[in-house]
Amino acid sequence: MEKITLPKGTKDIGDPEIFIWYHVENIVRKEAAHFHYIELRTPLFEQTELFARGVGEETDIVQKEMYTFLDKGGRSVTLRPEGTAPVMRSYLEQSFHIHNPRMKYFYMGPMFRYERPQAGRMRQFHQFGFEAIGFQSPAADAEIILLADRIYKKIGLKNIRLEINSLGCKKCKPQYLEALKNFLRNQAAQFCRNCSNRIETNPLRVLDCKNASCQNILHSESFPIIQNFLCDDCLTHQNHVIGILESAQIHPVINPYLVRGLDYYIKTTFEMKTEELGAQNAIGGGGRYDNLSDALGVKGIPGVGFAAGMERIILLLQKQSESKAFFQKPFIYLSPLDQQGEDVLLRLSIVLDENSIPFHLDFSDKSLKYHFKNAQRMDASFIIIAGENEYQTKTYTLKNMLSGEQKVVSQTTLIGDLLEAYQNVKNT
Ligand code: AMP
Repeated sequence: MEKITLPKGTKDIGDPEIFIWYHVENIVRKEAAHFHYIELRTPLFEQTELFARGVGEETDIVQKEMYTFLDKGGRSVTLRPEGTAPVMRSYLEQSFHIHNPRMKYFYMGPMFRYERPQAGRMRQFHQFGFEAIGFQSPAADAEIILLADRIYKKIGLKNIRLEINSLGCKKCKPQYLEALKNFLRNQAAQFCRNCSNRIETNPLRVLDCKNASCQNILHSESFPIIQNFLCDDCLTHQNHVIGILESAQIHPVINPYLVRGLDYYIKTTFEMKTEELGAQNAIGGGGRYDNLSDALGVKGIPGVGFAAGMERIILLLQKQSESKAFFQKPFIYLSPLDQQGEDVLLRLSIVLDENSIPFHLDFSDKSLKYHFKNAQRMDASFIIIAGENEYQTKTYTLKNMLSGEQKVVSQTTLIGDLLEAYQNVKNT
């Protein structure tokens, strides 16, 4: 029979990599709690219309990358490709804009995009994201960026570049789009087919094109820089955001090409990048999306947020840190020699659990040599051996894996000794 394998672009995440995921997830949850962003868990699939209207019909995500299918009731549903539109859908559906309009959310979980898989680009990948809805102030943009920066730093990531741009607002964006279209029209024949099709319908998307020759044309001297078109309001907004960041020792670089692949952004956009992951260099990004609620049928709800890619963060962390530092190891390896040993150690495991001492209980159908090797592989600090003899004498054989010292201890003194040793290990 043919072997069943993982679907392309997906991955099993287990021992030992899962411990790095726990490390990242724990920091995200902790920072969310400190900044009081509350978790929202939205469904993994939504009505297709949400992303078509929210993310934008002209985007790569909607045109090429969505996992869309008809359910058995004939409704078109889509596996979520991103987290912001579902959060806004939930906010509006629950009428927060009427009774409690200022909300701070975070989310964490899998997203789905039908992309060409490669290192750091998956079809099922994971994001965590933060959204501040109902806030107009540029300080909200700065808080989101500051929060992202703090999370990356606490995770232990180094050498991350923050790029920032403004996409203008309803007032000034149209003039910029006109100038951009003129620039693009002049070179229309040289762009790839996809880009030439988008010049009239959605020229900003041309800036996202990954094709090197399109990028070359864009990086010419006559390219219109959006900063020259921003209205006073947008310019003040941008300067205010950058000013707050600078005073927090975060130094963004303005990148006029940074438009991001989703249609809903206005004013601030930003991205965190690394030089160490090759082509998949963005490890997170976001911006202000005051137009998103309009696309979903409720006018004028401001919002700002960011999303970060877990897989890329973990790849980077593996490059920059000693992965072993994140592993959770059993402090004690419990090795039964026979059925009575199993009985003794199973009961001991409950006491260890009550004292919050992590352990690994193996079972008796292997040799002692195997158990020693296994305990070594798991980097356990102690091994406890028990069999018929220990069952009769109410003792355990305890061996310190580091020093090799082995002794027989009574049930009454064991837990006290272990707790002390565990505290010492935790404190070092
Ligand atoms: P986006 O929603 O496209 O702005 O993505 C936000 C972050 O998610 C990016 O900066 C990446 O770190 C990550 N990301 C996006 N698409 C993928 C993917 N296909 N595979 C892995 N990570 C991704």
